[in-house]
Amino acid sequence: MFFTPIAYDEPLFRPPAEARSAIVQATLGCSWNQCAFCEMYTSKKFRVRSIEDVKSDISNIAKYYKGTKKIFLADGNAFVLSTKKLVPILDEINKKFGKIQRVSSYALPKDILSKSEQELKELKDLGLKLLYIGIETGDEELLKLIHKGETFNSTVDGITKAHKIGIDTSIMIINGLGGKVYSEQHALKSAEIINKVNPKFLSTLTLSLPYGLEHFQNRFEGYYQQQTIVELFKELRLFIKNLEVENVIYRSNHVSNNIPLQGTLSKDKDVLLMLLEKAINNTDPGIFPSQSDIL
Ligand code: SF4
Repeated sequence: MFFTPIAYDEPLFRPPAEARSAIVQATLGCSWNQCAFCEMYTSKKFRVRSIEDVKSDISNIAKYYKGTKKIFLADGNAFVLSTKKLVPILDEINKKFGKIQRVSSYALPKDILSKSEQELKELKDLGLKLLYIGIETGDEELLKLIHKGETFNSTVDGITKAHKIGIDTSIMIINGLGGKVYSEQHALKSAEIINKVNPKFLSTLTLSLPYGLEHFQNRFEGYYQQQTIVELFKELRLFIKNLEVENVIYRSNHVSNNIPLQGTLSKDKDVLLMLLEKAINNTDPGIFPSQSDIL
């Protein structure tokens, strides 16, 4: 059986890029927990863990994983915690792990906006250097239909504020989020918001429906019509075609994606578009070309 030095409160999620990081649960669940497409924490009631419990986990992890260089603070949006609550956690991490490379967590734009620039700087100086933000779309209408609780402007403002202090962001967009009806506006406005904020990392996931289509349709406030795989590729192509960014590390290699893509944008834009073009024109939808085929 797989051994972990602490008992995690399941279910537990982390971004694919944090696969080799130690995970510390600072909060349980998601403080928002209302996004129409998200079932990650619907089985958990949001709760802030006591500092004693968090410190005990940090000590135990430090004992077993001595060389740890990266820590991910879970769950859903641990960055919702006030600076007053985050500082002792980061202090303890620094005390127990010595020189850590980076601490990261999921965040909502509103979690960033609720902190002053001085507070963000204090957190960054203590090692919190990367925030994962599922903005999902840049389209104002779609943001409302999925109950994201954010707007185009709040998203831009939150991300810009973090960048100004030197905290990097990793932004997630969901391919297929609005179905056939909202596909074009979703692709174009998502590209527009990414162009405005120019994050360090960008990833696209594909909408997954773990409880089935009807369940999602009931939670989605608009008319949701599921896209075919080719329509999803076309939406992704429109999104990437409209990106004008600098040195953004792009990944589309989540288990939900129909085709793995990666590159640096906008430098590799043509290659990614060529690959999507090939996938769109593929007559056998079970076999898509791999990036190594054309690189
Ligand atoms: S904020 Fe994130 S974790 Fe919370 S419900 Fe929305 S997508 Fe899920």
